[in-house]
Amino acid sequence: MTTSHTAVEFLAGTEPGLFVDGAWTPGATGETFEVFDPASGRVLATVADAGADDAAAAVTAAAAALPGWAATPGWERYEVLRGAVEAMRKNQDDLAVLICAETGKPLAEARAEARNTVRFFEWFGHETMRLPGQAWSDVAAGRDAVVLQEPVGVVAAITPWNFPGFMVACKVGAALAAGCPVVLKPAEQTPLTALAIAKAFQTAGLPPGVLNVLPTSHPARVGEVLLAHPDVACVSFTGSRRVGELLMREAAATVKRVLLELGGNAPVVVLDDADLDLAVAQLVRARYLNAGQACVAANRVYVVESVAADFVAALTEAVRGLRVGDPLESTSDLGPMIDLAAVERIEAQLAAAVGDGGSLVTGGDRLRSNDVSAYVSPAIVSADGDRQPGVFAEELFGPLLAVVRCRDADEAVQLANATDYGLAGYVFAGSAARGMEIARRLRVGSVGVNCALVSEPQLPFGGVRASGLGRERGRAGVEEFLETKTVQLGR
Ligand code: NAD
Repeated sequence: MTTSHTAVEFLAGTEPGLFVDGAWTPGATGETFEVFDPASGRVLATVADAGADDAAAAVTAAAAALPGWAATPGWERYEVLRGAVEAMRKNQDDLAVLICAETGKPLAEARAEARNTVRFFEWFGHETMRLPGQAWSDVAAGRDAVVLQEPVGVVAAITPWNFPGFMVACKVGAALAAGCPVVLKPAEQTPLTALAIAKAFQTAGLPPGVLNVLPTSHPARVGEVLLAHPDVACVSFTGSRRVGELLMREAAATVKRVLLELGGNAPVVVLDDADLDLAVAQLVRARYLNAGQACVAANRVYVVESVAADFVAALTEAVRGLRVGDPLESTSDLGPMIDLAAVERIEAQLAAAVGDGGSLVTGGDRLRSNDVSAYVSPAIVSADGDRQPGVFAEELFGPLLAVVRCRDADEAVQLANATDYGLAGYVFAGSAARGMEIARRLRVGSVGVNCALVSEPQLPFGGVRASGLGRERGRAGVEEFLETKTVQLGR
């Protein structure tokens, strides 16, 4: 892991601090916390631990920066974002190593994330020059009207650990493009990538206070200040349903705009005329990416009876071929999970499934452990549609795939929708028309027909029901950070 240490020093400074009002600071508490490499259990870095006073100082800095950043013409905002993109692109390989080191995801996946992080910032940079507005002449007798889209105000962004760069790009890129300063609280497991991104913005000359980053091992003490502060206009959160609900309640007291990207429990419908080889190849990726720790990960496959045996045989062979190992090795398909708590959760869900009508087809073993985490072999549990284990209605956030045999497409769709979540879903069908018909019936925010989802900056993304509120990415993702003002002009 020598390379990752180099990346930490190079990108975030030898003693990573908080980034507040354009400067690096050790923070008001003087406390620090350690960031671990889940692959080895070793300490990667010691980071300043933000407290309530730091959160208040960051909001004050962001509020002071708001008028200037909001009034900066789109073209000039673009120039700053472009400078940060150039700085990140120059260091993209190091950013990938940092992501790999903090999360334990295989280096190839970390490289893909670093690339996406940079190109999403780039895309949002361009959007600064295309912010919407409307005008009417003669909207009433003797009156014209304009509808302005103004920055909503200071944004508090709270991100998860599973995509520590990409999640920051989706929130910070969109908010900065819209003219909003940001106070970012990254996940305690992965603050270094966020600090590296802040460094790129500092290099690019972002005005002080426009981006502030508060690593902390006490998310509630920072979160409470951000959620209660009258100068924070909007909170954009990605993470678990439990914390999302809590933040929504906290935000109610000051009536903030709340954007929530919460958990998922993505169903997959495999029809009798589907290309099974394609389905297997896509699903293996869609399930076991990041050791199964992705919100859009395929959780449950509903396969119609007539093709179930062939599908399960091909899927099992493919899953047994996956290699679990050190994330820095190019041969590894899965690294460790983020921490032991995550390992224990997925093990408990596997046991619950097997105790409730499911059969273990393969995997689910702890292969190697350290003090921080463990490597788990990719698992499949199968069941019949008329006796589906109750735990399949929960988010399966690890390398466990549920496969359920169904009578027909109708039963598959009914079971696919039998969960509170509605983030992503997938369909494998012999024709686009059949695929589209099922896509319309799935109660989710994004569907892949004959493909796993890919992240493209122009496509809006988000959940329905317990998976969240609002949309991230795409033009819709920028507009979430804009406020509409209607002006009528009498002549
Ligand atoms: P988590 O909710 O535990 O943590 C997410 C963030 O919230 C972290 O930054 C954490 O420090 C912070 N947090 C925790 N308690 C807080 C509090 N009291 N006040 C303020 N902030 C607080 O989630 P996680 O385990 O890091 O991430 C996994 C979850 O995120 C899964 O459910 C996954 O599906 C979801 N997720 C969703 C998306 C999406 O786009 N919908 C993307 C990635 C992850």
